[in-house]
Amino acid sequence: MRSARAQWPAVFLDINGALIHDSWHRDNHADPARMRLAPGAAEALERLAQAPLRLVIVSHQRDVSLDKMETQLQRLFARCGARLHAAYWCPHDSHDLHDPRGALATYAGACTCRKPQPGMLLRAQREHDIDLSQSWLIGEHANDIEAGNRAGCRSILTDGGNEAAWHSEPARLPYAIVTNLHDAAQMIVERHAYEHAEPAPEVTGTHFA
Ligand SMILES: [Zn+2]
Repeated sequence: MRSARAQWPAVFLDINGALIHDSWHRDNHADPARMRLAPGAAEALERLAQAPLRLVIVSHQRDVSLDKMETQLQRLFARCGARLHAAYWCPHDSHDLHDPRGALATYAGACTCRKPQPGMLLRAQREHDIDLSQSWLIGEHANDIEAGNRAGCRSILTDGGNEAAWHSEPARLPYAIVTNLHDAAQMIVERHAYEHAEPAPEVTGTHFA
């Protein structure tokens, strides 16, 4: 049952990996204006724009102008007919990005936003009327997947072939594994249409009082 306040399904995305072109990451995040979409990302955004889903970035970034990042992301999204609804950034560093348990232990007390913690998603829920149970997360690391799961979303792993940690425990198990961002977008839009389709008109029959 929905509350009186409208709630919206969202798709949470990370700017790392499949969305933003590798060259920008390789350049050490020099200038946000130089960010470009990764191959296939434009088609994925075009697909997502066909459904009433709020697109929200949840990512780890520091040492860059987040305002400039958001401006550039809005521009890139708009070119695909999509709208960036909000962006959330965890600026906290981790001593060991490659050891999720270490990172979790290190920041358990200091930060509630670094994935696999669901802090950024929960904040988006509060600030943008997001219905997490109808929402999705697309990620390429087990930490992304776990954050989505802990927030109550369905998490889709875009498998670049280098994430094996997802099967280590149930909390990190994705709802689905696909090969790229476009396939994730396709799955989300199709599921959303299916789950929100108008019910077929009832067959009129004989009713007994
Ligand atoms: Zn944080």
